[in-house]
Amino acid sequence: MTRQARDEQVLEYLDAMAEEMLDLLSASVRCASESGWEDRVAEVYATWFAGRGMPVTRQPIASSGFAAGEPRASERENVIAWYPGRTGRSVVVLNGHLDVVPAGDPSAWSLPPYSGLRKAGRVHGRGSVDMKGGIAAGLYALAALSALQIDLGFDIAMELVVAEETTGVGTRAAEAVVPHPAAALVLEPSGGAIVPVSTGLLFFTVEVTGKAAHTSAPWRGVDAFERLIWLREALAEHARKRGERYTHPLFAAVPTALPFAVGTASAGTWRAAVPDRAVMSGRLGVAPGESLDAVRQEFQHVVDEVAAADEWLRAHPPTLRWDHEGLPGWETPLDDPLIVALVSAQRDFSGSESLIGFTAGSDAAFFGARGIPTAVFGPGEVSLAHGPDEYVSERDVVDAAKVLALALLRMEVNGRER
Ligand SMILES: [Zn+2]
Repeated sequence: MTRQARDEQVLEYLDAMAEEMLDLLSASVRCASESGWEDRVAEVYATWFAGRGMPVTRQPIASSGFAAGEPRASERENVIAWYPGRTGRSVVVLNGHLDVVPAGDPSAWSLPPYSGLRKAGRVHGRGSVDMKGGIAAGLYALAALSALQIDLGFDIAMELVVAEETTGVGTRAAEAVVPHPAAALVLEPSGGAIVPVSTGLLFFTVEVTGKAAHTSAPWRGVDAFERLIWLREALAEHARKRGERYTHPLFAAVPTALPFAVGTASAGTWRAAVPDRAVMSGRLGVAPGESLDAVRQEFQHVVDEVAAADEWLRAHPPTLRWDHEGLPGWETPLDDPLIVALVSAQRDFSGSESLIGFTAGSDAAFFGARGIPTAVFGPGEVSLAHGPDEYVSERDVVDAAKVLALALLRMEVNGRER
């Protein structure tokens, strides 16, 4: 069969299965699998795989070595399925996360947060775009190839993991089941664009102590808030310069590839007292190839410099804490077979390709930073994630399934031509 005829069969199959795909997506949204409650949706996917002859490994987090501090560890498990005909060849991973961020205040939503309602070409609800739409697309891409009994020349593991939105332990635990993937495709929403590069991030907290005093005589105190603002300005300037030093054509559309932001700040306990404590927490972007340790040290150096310029801070140094182990940046060369396959698939499907860089952290960092060829590709706009009225366009989900299936057909692993 010619490549074109095979492509057409795959696309026809996915058109025929579109309603089923979208109904599965709707059902998965209704499961309300907030982080910690991934078991609410795990069964839906495990049943789906079993029904299509795809062997499933259920990997409990409790026995993974990553359970420390995880809520409900004995209830939560990764669902890892294999494309039929696994023979121990090179493995391509498709990765998605089972968990969704909490829906928040239901009254902020126009529809109930977990309605899963299909209406006017959209599937609504928390998790629809982040990232059950991507998972549905991945599942049906595999279903299409499997139904047409296509042997790809490599194995495929679909990893559906817990805790992406909290600690990332799910993807790290899955390494025990799929230790050395030849490539990883993470199905997070990318607006249907191919993402071969992502910057990483570090989360920090800076705390300053001062000395309280009545605000009728503030000179008797030491204002911790004022000093926190000095620190914020110095750190933002440091981050701005870092952003200027790192340039990449796939980040041309955004002001910086290395965003810096303070998400929370607080100071003082009383309006009429000079604040004796001030604290802020935020994030700092990290470029591909940068060592997280080196970035942490530079940041500490800026804090030390601000402290050195003030008598009080010299005696009472601000504390800098890293709240999370951080996510490194990563980049896959455009001539890597994974990216070549995605670009070829997208071009053949839609006439042109779209590539962008990501400034958001995701489980892709876990693969990319280990040198595994990695890409993010999935339906829907990431800007619709994590807020009220999350939805994904049905058309985008079906189109993503088509591009994924065509890309898998075009993929070479370890030099094997397809
Ligand atoms: Zn996500």
